[in-house]
Amino acid sequence: MKIDELADRIRAADRRALARAITLIESARADHRTDAVRLLDALGRDRQALRIGLSGTPGVGKSTFIEAFGLMLTALGKRVAVLAVDPSSARSGGSILGDKTRMERLSREPLAFIRPSPSQTELGGVARRTREAVALCEAAGFDVVLIETVGVGQSETMVAEMADLFVLLLAPAGGDELQGVKRGIMEMADIILVNKADGDLKSQAVRTCADYAGALRLLRKRPQDPDGFPKALTISSIEADGLEQAWDEMTMLADWRRSRGIWERKRADQARFWFREDVRHGLMRRLTEDAALRKRLAELEKAVAEGRIAPAAAATEALAPLQSQRAKDA
Ligand code: GDP
Repeated sequence: MKIDELADRIRAADRRALARAITLIESARADHRTDAVRLLDALGRDRQALRIGLSGTPGVGKSTFIEAFGLMLTALGKRVAVLAVDPSSARSGGSILGDKTRMERLSREPLAFIRPSPSQTELGGVARRTREAVALCEAAGFDVVLIETVGVGQSETMVAEMADLFVLLLAPAGGDELQGVKRGIMEMADIILVNKADGDLKSQAVRTCADYAGALRLLRKRPQDPDGFPKALTISSIEADGLEQAWDEMTMLADWRRSRGIWERKRADQARFWFREDVRHGLMRRLTEDAALRKRLAELEKAVAEGRIAPAAAATEALAPLQSQRAKDA
């Protein structure tokens, strides 16, 4: 299919075309990449979904939440796409977030679209492809794009770089420990949802929520927030309780930021971030696609680690082939 035709079909909300386009952007083949880049550019950037980043450790209830929350949104007539950044999928072969049996009801919902994490060897690759899939879903006219990630490593930072709002899902904690949630992640969160606020866990969830609300109040007030944010709420994904309130808070925050130009500024910053990521990645690729250059790079890295050469001098030497390439091009 021609790229223009594929773009037209995506903009007409054709799900098969969307799925096909995501497969195209995930492909490692050079000719596919050329087509993917053309497609992304052809789609335009006039449509905007609310992009919600969602993080939480395994077992906290992310799938259960997304299914319940997604069904609530589709019942409101919203079109919902679910994507994932799961850096473990490449290593283990089995993706935590890619399990086909997850979100069974939501996956049958005509207004919903679910896509597991791309499997790539490095987080940067997974994140870049997911960010492009977000752009495709947006062009296809989805109202909400949920981007899920597990609470490991840098994946949350990457997801925050492609989301308008960042939601952290937590479980009720015993005692007064704050579940070892890293300060950096607390600072990234716009909304904390303490899940499993039902049955025997309810009172514990309410206490945990109060602890987090207290911890959030101690953080520096951020210019991107109205009063009362970041906020902590209790929900039960199993009983679909508190989900509408969570949605109201999200839309309220999004509207507030839109009306003050904060939303646009953040998107501009993010576009810059991904542009730089792509440039950085492109440079690294040029340095490593040739076997001799790859070997030289590995040698330099070893020499740096062993203290035989300063990092700056090694970097200059590593980049030298790009300079001679430019001389040749000129
Ligand atoms: P994920 O690993 O973060 O995707 O978590 P899952 O959605 O697979 O849920 C992990 C476990 O927590 C499952 O046994 C769920 O049934 C349970 N769970 C999820 N949400 C809730 C909830 O709101 N209340 C209770 N009681 N259990 C829940």
